[in-house]
Amino acid sequence: VSPAAAGEVTLFCDQAWLGPDVGFAWGVVISVAPGGLITAVDTRCGPPASAVRIGGDVCLPGFVNGHSHAFHRALRGVSETRAGDFWTWRELMYAVASRLDPDSYRELASLVYAEMLLAGYTAVGEFHYLHHQKDGVPYSDPNEMSLSLLAAAAAAGIRLTLLDACYLQAGVDGSPLSGVQLRFSDSSGEGWSERVTRLLSAERASETARLGVAIHSVRATPRPAITTGAALAGFEDLPLHVHLSEQRRENEECLKVLGLTPTQLLADCGALSRHTTAVHATHLTDWDLGRLGLAECGVCACPTTERDLGDGIGPFSALAEAGAVLSIGSDSHAVIDPFEETRAIELNERLSRERRGLSRVQALLDAGTSGGSRALGWPAAGIRVGAMADLVSIRMGSPRLAGPPSAGNLDGLPASALLARILFSGSSSDVDTVVVGGRVVVREGEHAAYGPPRALAERLGNAVTEALGVQPLPSTR
Ligand SMILES: [Zn+2]
Repeated sequence: VSPAAAGEVTLFCDQAWLGPDVGFAWGVVISVAPGGLITAVDTRCGPPASAVRIGGDVCLPGFVNGHSHAFHRALRGVSETRAGDFWTWRELMYAVASRLDPDSYRELASLVYAEMLLAGYTAVGEFHYLHHQKDGVPYSDPNEMSLSLLAAAAAAGIRLTLLDACYLQAGVDGSPLSGVQLRFSDSSGEGWSERVTRLLSAERASETARLGVAIHSVRATPRPAITTGAALAGFEDLPLHVHLSEQRRENEECLKVLGLTPTQLLADCGALSRHTTAVHATHLTDWDLGRLGLAECGVCACPTTERDLGDGIGPFSALAEAGAVLSIGSDSHAVIDPFEETRAIELNERLSRERRGLSRVQALLDAGTSGGSRALGWPAAGIRVGAMADLVSIRMGSPRLAGPPSAGNLDGLPASALLARILFSGSSSDVDTVVVGGRVVVREGEHAAYGPPRALAERLGNAVTEALGVQPLPSTR
């Protein structure tokens, strides 16, 4: 191990997963350049004197949360108290959306991002559509809500891709927006594109924040605006995200009005490419599935939200087989736990297909890490040269994870057995240290800026209470 150059950070961990070719290695020294990328990985070392020692027992690449709506976090538990489906849940979500302003949104989002960091997520894709004031009147800076989210991520220390969404109509038939939905709208595809272009020129990529664009869905975005969004993403070389076929009703409406499946519509508009990430992709025809695979699109699975909302179980292993690249997202934040999200890709499909082993352990880890960094337009994830120095370390000391101490001791078992134990049985509570771009953001389960979990919980509780407000939420009966 050579001494660190000026501005370089040296990290040391006892044991780390270095990918399927190497498996777990002991005594791992990771050198990080000032920009936050890994420049060297050495193994079988003692901790160098200058190194920052990463606590916990086993280090993995940091998890990437490919799909988030930060303000949905306020609904945790609230929406469980009444019966209802996706559409009645949406009414509750609108009630929260109606209350937020740039200050309260920044506070809530920064605390939600801190919760993500504690859970082991090092990056997030924020799918942002709460753009304007009540009745759709722009703030004096029309990107003020976007700036709040950028500030929130910087305060929390999470890597962010802000995906600015085009949201213009209430249904595939072009029915107009009303009520709180007006806050989401830029009136036209051109209006949206103009505002986003303004943000792009003011807020180019920083070390830990980037921009991308989103088409909310085929429900909310008319055909010409989908084409505009795809063209803007292509021209600016940005990630393009879209909610796709989450609910059967969306498919039925799209077929009825346009005679196309949502995937066919996106294909017609030139919106399917390697830069595209289809979020959910739950209800697909064989043609849809093949087309997403052929275009090497990303597909972001959000299993804890999909089961919370009763969406259904997406054909994720078949999509991966067809050529799509999977990632995970905590979406509505019913749960923020990358372990739960990652294993649910496999476990949900076991239930629906009555078979095991549909996705291999490494493929699940890739969905939780490198698939997300690809979807959000960042360099590779992984503990290797050229990847982002985004890491999460796991404490193996809880009864939940107790077992043979290391892969090397598992006579006759593959090294990935330890990885499988972590992914299939671990939880966000097992996270010890979180590193973003070489910087330690969470140490011993405590956020560097927000203090002990109890202090963070109290502040987050207050932000949620404010977002829910004192007004009674609309009845879903
Ligand atoms: Zn979503």
